[in-house]
Amino acid sequence: MRDLFEATERGSLQPEPRSLAETRRLAAACTRCDLYRNATQTVFGEGPISARIMLVGEQPGDKEDIAGRPFVGPAGQVLDRALDAAGIERKAIFLTNGVKHFKNEPRGRKRLHKRPDPGEIDICRWWLDLERKFVHPAVIVALGATAIRSVTGRSATVSSLRGRPTGLPDGGTLIATIHPSYLLRMPDRSLADAEFGHFVADLKLAVRTAEGDRAA
Ligand code: SF4
Repeated sequence: MRDLFEATERGSLQPEPRSLAETRRLAAACTRCDLYRNATQTVFGEGPISARIMLVGEQPGDKEDIAGRPFVGPAGQVLDRALDAAGIERKAIFLTNGVKHFKNEPRGRKRLHKRPDPGEIDICRWWLDLERKFVHPAVIVALGATAIRSVTGRSATVSSLRGRPTGLPDGGTLIATIHPSYLLRMPDRSLADAEFGHFVADLKLAVRTAEGDRAA
């Protein structure tokens, strides 16, 4: 608790950025929590500021941490296939993570993924909230339970929110679905294929929701 308090104190010294570019620059030097200590760099969101859809994942993985870009590892390849199947151009959407540093545990020459805890998710919301403020997407797709907490500030399961658009206080709409890394962990290929189809259907729902918002 003491660490969390100290981290929050560190964060409170940062001025509020006035643009997305300034947010990116300040995030690169973020020390609001301890996750920066074990990571290569901050992995900020990417995509057009005019994007109608924002996809929020959990945190960067090993490949993203090294490249400094979101969704460029194995889960990103699954996401690219799903976006393609849903008719979504990757370059037309804003891709980011709820937590901007790679939380990991060194194990020999490998770095094993560690799930961020609620305190780390809540501290890092500062950056996601700023991305949301400047991009102002009509629809936010939360990929997994960590992303749901990052977007809403509350814990909820994917299954409790999946399949129905949920209004957000800023006027946007939340679509909850799985994280693509979940598909990589499924041992049964036929179940994984079915779940991939469900994932694509969620992405198509995001497109319809964003289009409906534009037409309204
Ligand atoms: S995880 Fe987020 S809050 Fe923590 S140091 Fe990194 S950018 Fe800052």
